[in-house]
Amino acid sequence: MELIHADLHIHTKYSPDASTDPKVLVDRLNAHPTIKAAAITDHNTVEGYLKTKELAKSYQDITIIPGVEITAMEGEIIILGTEELPPMPWTIRRITEFAKKNNAITIAPHPYRGYGLGNLAKTYQIDAIETLNAITTPKANKTAETLAKTMNLPGVAGSDAHEPDELWTVYTEIQASLDVGEILDAIKKGAVKPFWTEKSIRF
Ligand SMILES: [Zn+2]
Repeated sequence: MELIHADLHIHTKYSPDASTDPKVLVDRLNAHPTIKAAAITDHNTVEGYLKTKELAKSYQDITIIPGVEITAMEGEIIILGTEELPPMPWTIRRITEFAKKNNAITIAPHPYRGYGLGNLAKTYQIDAIETLNAITTPKANKTAETLAKTMNLPGVAGSDAHEPDELWTVYTEIQASLDVGEILDAIKKGAVKPFWTEKSIRF
């Protein structure tokens, strides 16, 4: 069984509130001893993902997972596996339908932090819950874990890094190879486990 470590929630400078240059991200992913997959989840754009993927082409053994964190009317939702934005207007229902149609998956990020979906997540066909977000309080992460259990959904981890030094503070262990399709299937199946790294300093 193959096992990989992935950071499933990363912003680049293509998010208005983030500073990480895609080149720095790719270099640090390449240099990391164990984390070899990174999902680029900028706010409402896939531009940073496209730049990062282009740069990553010249490296072996790292994977950039396409993604986006959409500010929907009800709160934020992450789509993994899409290189395109869903059609507007952005409601959670339309976004989950878009994801299903396009072999992508949806994750409710930090459900109990600002802009999180909270208990509203229960009303939608979301594929996974972010139960470990590195810039969210332990209490809010714990509540997210309970939500995942209640909904019988997998829990995943993402650093939500907005600058280079915030990268890889947490990771998701995934029973998959570095193939994006396999990674998405494994997340959906729940073959995942969230972990803190030693680098985690915030809490
Ligand atoms: Zn985010």
